[in-house]
Amino acid sequence: MEEYDIAVIGGGPAGIMAAIIASRNSSSVILLEKNQDLGRKLLMTGGGRCNITNLKPIKKLLNFYPQKNFLKHSLFSFTNEMLLSFFEDKGLDFIEEDDNRIFPRTEKSSDILKVLIDYLDDVVISYNFEVKTITEDFIINDKIKANKIIIATGGATYPQTGCNIENYSITSHPLTDIKYGLVPLITKKDLSSIAGITLYDVVVSYKKSKVKGNVLFSHVGLTGPGIINLSNEISQGLTYNLLDDKSLDVNFEVAIDLYPNLTREQLNEKFNADFQLKGKIMLKNYLKLFLTNNFIDFFLKESNLDGETQLSRIDKKSKNRLIENLKRFTFEITGFNENLSKVTIGGVDLDNVNPKTMESTIIPNLYFAGEVLDLHGPTGGYNLQIAFSTGYLAGFSASEK
Ligand SMILES: Cc1cc2nc3c(=O)[nH]c(=O)nc-3n(C[C@H](O)[C@H](O)[C@H](O)COP(=O)(O)OP(=O)(O)OC[C@H]3O[C@@H](n4cnc5c(N)ncnc54)[C@H](O)[C@@H]3O)c2cc1C
Repeated sequence: MEEYDIAVIGGGPAGIMAAIIASRNSSSVILLEKNQDLGRKLLMTGGGRCNITNLKPIKKLLNFYPQKNFLKHSLFSFTNEMLLSFFEDKGLDFIEEDDNRIFPRTEKSSDILKVLIDYLDDVVISYNFEVKTITEDFIINDKIKANKIIIATGGATYPQTGCNIENYSITSHPLTDIKYGLVPLITKKDLSSIAGITLYDVVVSYKKSKVKGNVLFSHVGLTGPGIINLSNEISQGLTYNLLDDKSLDVNFEVAIDLYPNLTREQLNEKFNADFQLKGKIMLKNYLKLFLTNNFIDFFLKESNLDGETQLSRIDKKSKNRLIENLKRFTFEITGFNENLSKVTIGGVDLDNVNPKTMESTIIPNLYFAGEVLDLHGPTGGYNLQIAFSTGYLAGFSASEK
């Protein structure tokens, strides 16, 4: 039997970071990865460009996580700036895009992975090693014995990257409900005719939750940052658990405020004035002031309005319908586009993990890091920062003990 001080399970960003940091203090660290390579999901991030973090000040950044209190310690232990310096020390450079999103200047997630692998010099890596059993005295698959174990097996989505619901069985810890996060929505209506069109800076809402952002129409439904971020709140609000429910029936409505700049009342005033002043203009042309050009036909059809009508001829009922649909354009949602769920909501219950060390409060010397924990954030670099910060803290604490 091989013996190690620390065994890290899972070679994603959280596990790799934990192994790197642990190896700085500890003489023997092994990283166990079930795939034949490391960081498969990491390579897919940001469309292959890797939105590695978000550069908002940590205090502000924390407000974007539902589990803000738990994350405080790890995010301050290994901040977004420290994360970037960690890569800059190996020659990587970064660019900042809108909303403080950070990408490597080379725009290649493979460059992030290369640096991580470079840092792994002092770590033994065992590929094609799928952990199935961990005994009470920390013997893994009857092959490896460790003094401390860090579990960083990721979430349940994108099974081609090594993540699946079965992985949770090795955690031996209470779990919260496992749900899809950052997931596109499938609409009842066929949207092929508007697939590819983006609505910029609209406000999408589900019940009382509202998110401002872009919405992109796909052939099967709605996606884009506005929808993806709203999906976390939608998913959390529904009662289901992927550990029990293999298929999921959903039916709800999502509304889009297509013109958030003006209230209903302001629109009404503007229409009253414009319909007199610009009476000869056709509705379809007038709507260019408010809507993306190639969305207008679809909007008019759905609103049961004739685009050829001159503004002066629009009756009160039609005007009200126009206002209502601009402010609340609804879609019936019949499902999540499950294969494209970018994060898992839920995981190892945070009540049983010490946020200052990432150590289990139930099983001493067992640590957790990354998406396997009940942690998630919106799109924009927030989720990789969770993986790196919790991985750092778990690796540091395990090697200090
Ligand atoms: C398409 C896509 C794009 C994304 N883009 C971004 C982005 O731009 N920015 C951002 O912040 N976040 C992004 N995310 C989310 C981000 O990738 C994850 O939050 C992050 O990878 C989680 O890291 P992790 O190390 O916890 O888990 P993972 O990266 O999932 O790694 C877990 C590893 O554990 C291994 N493993 C699992 N079970 C076992 C076992 N039993 N034995 C051995 N090994 C095991 C898996 O094979 C895997 O390699 C994206 C996600 C997806 C799917």
